[in-house]
Amino acid sequence: MQHLGFSHTTLKIGSFDFTCCEGCQLQLANHESSLPAFLELLDIRNFREISSERHDDYDIALIEGSITRQDEAERLETIRKNAKVLVAYGSCACFGGVNSLKNNFPLDQTVREVYGDKSVDTLPVRKISDVVKEDYSIPGCPVSKEEVERIIVSIATGSIISLPKYPVCVECKQRLNTCLFDLGEICLGPITRAGCDAVCTSGKTPCLGCRGPADDINFPSFMQLVSDLKLSRDELDEKLGFYNCFEEFRHDKS
Ligand code: SF4
Ligand code: SF4
Ligand code: SF4
Repeated sequence: MQHLGFSHTTLKIGSFDFTCCEGCQLQLANHESSLPAFLELLDIRNFREISSERHDDYDIALIEGSITRQDEAERLETIRKNAKVLVAYGSCACFGGVNSLKNNFPLDQTVREVYGDKSVDTLPVRKISDVVKEDYSIPGCPVSKEEVERIIVSIATGSIISLPKYPVCVECKQRLNTCLFDLGEICLGPITRAGCDAVCTSGKTPCLGCRGPADDINFPSFMQLVSDLKLSRDELDEKLGFYNCFEEFRHDKS
């Protein structure tokens, strides 16, 4: 990774929310043991959930949420111009996330169902990289606080930034869980990037893929596994589409 040349020791940071539940910002703001040390590294220039400061000079812009209105796209473009480094964090920002379910229906039908005759300014959901260049993305719904802190510290120090390349199954097996496929469930763990410590499957809930695809996944083989086990194709499609993370694989005809 290139050295970003931050000359000051305190990193100027802004965090900005777009269409989302703000759960990822909340993860960062949680009062846990690492928060004081983390905040010592940062000069919070703009972070609505934890500070009343409002400034436009920041080194790093953390972007939470997806883009669903024209004014959001314009605001994001301004933030991109102000920031040296732009980081999309959370599955809404990285992939569109649960908001993207809206894109499965005609826009006017969705507006009518939700808002009736009221006029609403809304667009199909876009992830951050559909609108501006992002430098890094940190997936998860919500993100792992530890992972975001580690990556921000790495940006500040010019260290190597990486996410786990392997799938959730690795962490799930390390926790000695019974595989949910053996219990007749469809789990996206074999194709999803690890880093959450298999939190869902450890609670006996199948992985829905919120961290997006792991590196070098064998998607056709995963589809074949589900077919061989005679599990529901409709349920599989629903799970694959939930966070909008696997679109490039689902529609790859090669
Ligand atoms: S990724 Fe999940 S937790 Fe984060 S803002 Fe979106 S819906 Fe909320
Ligand atoms: S439960 Fe899911 S994550 Fe765990 S081993 Fe089975 S497929 Fe992998
Ligand atoms: S187990 Fe899957 S859905 Fe659950 S947090 Fe991890 S990646 Fe996300």
